[in-house]
Amino acid sequence: MNRCIFCDIINRESPAEIIYEDEFSIAFMDINPVTPGHLLIVPKKHFRVFTDMDEVSAGELFSAALKVSRAVRRSELKPEGLNLFLAEESAGMQEIFHCHLHIIPRYSGDGFGLKIKYSDETKNQLKINAEKIRKIL
Ligand code: AMP
Ligand code: ZN
Repeated sequence: MNRCIFCDIINRESPAEIIYEDEFSIAFMDINPVTPGHLLIVPKKHFRVFTDMDEVSAGELFSAALKVSRAVRRSELKPEGLNLFLAEESAGMQEIFHCHLHIIPRYSGDGFGLKIKYSDETKNQLKINAEKIRKIL
């Protein structure tokens, strides 16, 4: 594996503004925030993408995300809302290949948004696609 910037942060070999850590996860400020208070929750174990994670690590990641999200909402940053965002693979806009969850505080008129071109699936296609997923679970 090539050097991983998030592993370096976890191992204190690269600087970061760390705000929380426990046995499984660490949270630090995003170096290029889209809104004030934007931060990342990162599993301490290196998983390339979210779907590589084991259930315990994923559960712990989301527990840490809940704790930190509540702190952000109660903080003096006073966000009016939050977005949680997780990118998987380049097609899903992942740039750092050590899985992480963004917590993005939201403020009215903050300019952050998603550019969406809705897919024009028919009801029948929804049924077919639902079955493609259902049969794997
Ligand atoms: P993505 O993989 O698309 O979810 O995006 C990676 C995120 O990591 C971006 O929002 C970057 O600004 C952020 N990032 C990259 N390097 C660092 C770093 N050294 N410390 C904190 N955040 C970082
Ligand atoms: Zn890593």
